[in-house]
Amino acid sequence: MDNLSDQSSSFVYVDGKRYSLNIEFLKRKTATGFIEDDKIYIKLPINLDKEDKIKYINILKKRLIKRIINGQIYKELKFKDGDKIHIAGKDLTIHSYINQFAKRPLIKLEDGVLGVVIPASEATKADQILNDKVIKSLIKLVLPYAILKVNSINKRSFGFKISNIKIYRPKKVVLGSCNYKNKTLAFNLRIFLCPENIIDSVIVHELCHLKVPNHSPKFWKLLYSVMPDYDEARKWINKNLYTATIPNRWYE
Ligand SMILES: [Zn+2]
Repeated sequence: MDNLSDQSSSFVYVDGKRYSLNIEFLKRKTATGFIEDDKIYIKLPINLDKEDKIKYINILKKRLIKRIINGQIYKELKFKDGDKIHIAGKDLTIHSYINQFAKRPLIKLEDGVLGVVIPASEATKADQILNDKVIKSLIKLVLPYAILKVNSINKRSFGFKISNIKIYRPKKVVLGSCNYKNKTLAFNLRIFLCPENIIDSVIVHELCHLKVPNHSPKFWKLLYSVMPDYDEARKWINKNLYTATIPNRWYE
């Protein structure tokens, strides 16, 4: 393995490919990192001392390089004409239609077909329009489903107070987030294209953060008490979620 990298450079070479290294210091308590295309992002708490900064940058860099080597790079989710997906308990087929009379793009769900009408004048951007419309429409479709699911898991296993539940665009790498103060949970649309136990694992993880905001032993104890096979789900996510661009492939 000849992966060159040095602290001062803003590039990392992995198997001959150049990745730009973007390090940001933010008002936050935890350190995270992720990869998008040929960019490596590392986000660190602003109030770390110099020694810890170097330490955490190196830990995250090593972890992310390993992810690149294993092919676990996040790719943007792209829907296209003919895709068949299972989401929010429904089987859907995505179809696009070019229409010379349409003034603006339209989307409608009828008999299991999520149809996107694209004006002929915008036909050159058809792929982009289809993807945008489908994602927006799926977010709306998934929200009530997610609310029911989160509430039922919460009622069964925890009984925490929840103020709000949101779904965000699959552009982001994070699968779920929890605002401990506002009692708000948010989930990546991407997880709702995964098998049921995977969706549950992300929901359970975020619900546990309503009680323990960090990843301390107390957090994991709570999580495993509710979901003893959490690691299996996590393995599936690491194997499938980052590299999949076609939703169908997630049903392995
Ligand atoms: Zn967490």
